[in-house]
Amino acid sequence: MNVLVLNAGSATVKFQVVVTDADRIAADQDAKLLRGQIERIGGEAVITVRGADGVNRKRTAQLRDMRSAVEWLVGFITDPESGTGLSSRAELQAVGHRVVHGGEQFRRSSLIDEAVLRGIEENVELAPLHNPHNLRGIDAARAALGSGVPQVAVFDTAFHQTLPEHAYLYAIPYPLYRRHKIRRYGFHGTSHRSIAYRFRKLTGRERADVRIVTLHLGNGCSACAIRAGESIDTSMGFTPLEGLVMGTRAGDIDAALLDYIAAKEGLSLTQVEALLNTQSGLLGLSGLTNDMRDLLLEAREMQDRRARLAIEIFCYRVRKYVGSYLAVLGGADAVVFAGGIGENAPEVRARIAEGLAWAGLHLDEAANARMVGGHEGCISTPASTLQAWVVPTDEELLIARDTYRVVTGITAPG
Ligand code: ADP
Repeated sequence: MNVLVLNAGSATVKFQVVVTDADRIAADQDAKLLRGQIERIGGEAVITVRGADGVNRKRTAQLRDMRSAVEWLVGFITDPESGTGLSSRAELQAVGHRVVHGGEQFRRSSLIDEAVLRGIEENVELAPLHNPHNLRGIDAARAALGSGVPQVAVFDTAFHQTLPEHAYLYAIPYPLYRRHKIRRYGFHGTSHRSIAYRFRKLTGRERADVRIVTLHLGNGCSACAIRAGESIDTSMGFTPLEGLVMGTRAGDIDAALLDYIAAKEGLSLTQVEALLNTQSGLLGLSGLTNDMRDLLLEAREMQDRRARLAIEIFCYRVRKYVGSYLAVLGGADAVVFAGGIGENAPEVRARIAEGLAWAGLHLDEAANARMVGGHEGCISTPASTLQAWVVPTDEELLIARDTYRVVTGITAPG
């Protein structure tokens, strides 16, 4: 099945064209025909595409809204120049959408019909910066391909719907949960699921046997405690702001700080929330950048104190979460690193693992140094009782596979 995967944001849409089916899933032979993104939708949009040859190509087009962007994209995919080999729209057989918030309604990926659309709309209140754009992506795909082409919503929150009550409730008055659905939802679910599945595949373990802590460390960062294939706790909460230190997000803070910062800095609560989301984390601490690559360089070559501090606080927070999830799981088989930082920064992985020797984790320095740029494998010594792995996440692949499964009703593992 040829699946178009879409991740629609405010002025961007990321896309992939993936060929998948039960045999391909079983053999790990899904084919990626094309991937890329369209940015600055609303004016002179910039389109970056990468074909099967791995080469990035840029172009521009006047795209006034999401509908015209997806219309352009579908035209491009079926043009010989794209190199996909697809020549008509009818060859795009299904569309899989990343949808950020599925609230409590959506525990799994769902075929989009009127009821599902209503469900996504009902959750706009919980994710005002994301769900409306995801809805526009769905509308645009329907306009470009017709309502006969099945579309599937894959929710960022769905994987965490297995969290037990004691993990998802905040210790605030219970009626707030009942009245307003205030609780921890968790995000990055597709990524944690993808990492956990790949880990099982690489280690040949059964779903029921696996206890792992997965770490998605990218611009956004989150940790997840997974037992028998299910998320039992995760670090992001009601919004993606909670938990680990991120590129620009503070992660865990004392809630009383909102009012205090507002009073001291003469800001509204909305402005303080924006400060915690966009001016904090690695960027706020270092005063330089949210980019871990640059921070590592500054710390190494310029001995920049605040860059070093930012990295240290980042790693310390991750280690704290790993420790608490080891307690939650009653011990684990492995800590699994993923995301731009997790997949590419041996130094950061080493700093996180440094304090975990008590738990039986000893890094193999050479393996750790080797595991960058998309390589996957074990990075702990054979004697480690708690292993460490690097397993690149592939959310788009999981969205494509889920789309295939939901559309055909065939249950293929993975
Ligand atoms: P997103 O969460 O937006 O998908 P990514 O998963 O691509 O982001 O992660 C982006 C982060 O990964 C940035 O902080 C970037 O600096 C970091 N990163 C990417 N490559 C490297 C590298 N070689 N060394 C250290 N950090 C890296």
